[in-house]
Amino acid sequence: MAYVYDDQNIFAKILRGEIPNSTVLETDHTLAFRDIQPQAPVHVLVIPKGPYVCYDHFASDASDAEIVDFNRTIAEVCKTEGLQDGGYRIISNAGEAGVQEVPHLHIHVLGGRGLGRMLQ
Ligand code: 5GP
Repeated sequence: MAYVYDDQNIFAKILRGEIPNSTVLETDHTLAFRDIQPQAPVHVLVIPKGPYVCYDHFASDASDAEIVDFNRTIAEVCKTEGLQDGGYRIISNAGEAGVQEVPHLHIHVLGGRGLGRMLQ
């Protein structure tokens, strides 16, 4: 499948500095910032800086350096937000079935309270 990236999506605008964000961590390849409508005491979005629509797009096409940096940044968010002891959930919604609102890959990092059982 050909991935079509829309550079007018809200996270592309955040990456270009056209819209403000509450940054948690930033590296050469990755940005982590707070969700504007947090669903838990900690709700951080981690995005690659490259133009990737969803997780399988990124994991297929990104460089090893981008993939390592992205994953390490997720781990770093868990540490800096103090989630390691209490636990956390990471989620990435993709496409129509996943009800993805913003078509730029993002991982939700949620924690800071009991999150309930998601899969039965
Ligand atoms: P999705 O449904 O695509 O997985 O999640 C998109 C997320 O982006 C939602 O949790 C939503 O609250 C968040 N979001 C949408 N617009 C903005 C924005 O302008 N700034 C920030 N920080 N988060 C946003």
